[in-house]
Amino acid sequence: MIRLKEEANRCLLCKNPRCKSKCPINTPIPEVIQLFKEDKIQEAGELLFNNNPLSVVCALVCPHENQCKGNCIRGIKEEPIEFYDIENYISTKFLDSDETNPVKLDKDRIAVIGAGPAGITIAFILASKGYRITIFESKDKIGGVLRYGIPDFRLPKDILDKIQHKLVQMGVKIRPNTRVGPVITIDKLFEDGYKAIFIGTGVWNPKTLNIKGETLGHVHYAIDYLKSPQVYELGKSVCVIGAGNVAMDAARTAKRNGVDQVSILYRKGFEDMTATKAEIEDAKKDGIIFELFKAPTEITDEGVKYIETQKIVNDEGKAETVFVETSEGFYPCDSVIIAVSQAPRNIIVSNNKGLKTGKSGLLIADESGHTTRQGVFSAGDVVTGAKTVVEAVNHAKIVAQAIDDYCIKAHKKQGI
Ligand SMILES: Cc1cc2nc3c(=O)[nH]c(=O)nc-3n(C[C@H](O)[C@H](O)[C@H](O)COP(=O)(O)OP(=O)(O)OC[C@H]3O[C@@H](n4cnc5c(N)ncnc54)[C@H](O)[C@@H]3O)c2cc1C
Repeated sequence: MIRLKEEANRCLLCKNPRCKSKCPINTPIPEVIQLFKEDKIQEAGELLFNNNPLSVVCALVCPHENQCKGNCIRGIKEEPIEFYDIENYISTKFLDSDETNPVKLDKDRIAVIGAGPAGITIAFILASKGYRITIFESKDKIGGVLRYGIPDFRLPKDILDKIQHKLVQMGVKIRPNTRVGPVITIDKLFEDGYKAIFIGTGVWNPKTLNIKGETLGHVHYAIDYLKSPQVYELGKSVCVIGAGNVAMDAARTAKRNGVDQVSILYRKGFEDMTATKAEIEDAKKDGIIFELFKAPTEITDEGVKYIETQKIVNDEGKAETVFVETSEGFYPCDSVIIAVSQAPRNIIVSNNKGLKTGKSGLLIADESGHTTRQGVFSAGDVVTGAKTVVEAVNHAKIVAQAIDDYCIKAHKKQGI
């Protein structure tokens, strides 16, 4: 607490705060810090929650170095403010406070498909406006990637249990283990009186490398592995292919689950990795080995065949990574984990009429989330492709407003 107060006192409370403008959800950082300095923790918590119902999660998992921390004016000459630690403290207290204002739920019935960050946000916002929300979640618990992707050592799962408790307190109904698509269809939901339907089903199909050997018994996709790492027998050495945050999580999880040697094999260098610097540093601290400038060409029972690459400046003056001729190599390992992004599953689209998809199967929706079927809205990764928690929440905030507008308009049309 003393450290947090000291950190708050270092904040310059800028008039035009870059930390706020560079935050995808415009967290009112100076206002929150001011309230924190005045010991108005509940008020600060409410401000954070109303702006971002998943503030408590974002405080832990946002790529801060590209957002608040990376844009703090103090950071130019000295250490930038670590606002997220203050945010974590306030938002945890707020979540623990159990002070949920009772709202009369007398508005339309809304179906929320998927309990990831996007679906949870829609549920919180629309329930607080008096809508009757039912969340349909195919897994046994809420959270989406927050529960079944991001490892516990980065995001303790009791936070998600508390969020679930808050949703239930607000009167949100949750149907776990319920996959919408072939049995519960969009038509059926409308027939049962849901006025609008929100799809926030994320991206759960692993993208493939399209090389020989991907179906072998010792090869796994990171998005599958991270759901329940404890059930995998990986052996003594694992090679993770990919260099985004999913790859770092898979590698660090494998290490924590007893694998002696975990390596990340990547076809480019550190500067091209999509994982944040902080995640790369944490992976190094965990003893993860980086095998760079190696592009996998085949997976065999004994390991990964690769060809070396190098970075060159091409004729147009642009940096490019190219294969080095006759540089084939072999990286021996017991298991391979592939982490090269994800795409949506099409179970809802293929079993229901009127929903169009675009590139890589992403659901087509306009800026405020209207899909190609009337009354059906969508946001989050299933529309944008794999992004971040804060982006999914921000997107869902816009869509929650659009659903509210849609329901109000529909009533006006009917003269109710
Ligand atoms: C391993 C990993 C680590 C990540 N780390 C970070 C990080 O550190 N920071 C960060 O900001 N972002 C991170 N991300 C990205 C971030 O988690 C996602 O952008 C975010 O979760 C997207 O939210 P969403 O609600 O759109 O989808 P999801 O979180 O994918 O949630 C979708 C939900 O819909 C459910 N569902 C799917 N189909 C159906 C159906 N037919 N019926 C009912 N339910 C269904 C799923 O079970 C799931 O619960 C990470 C992603 C992964 C995979």
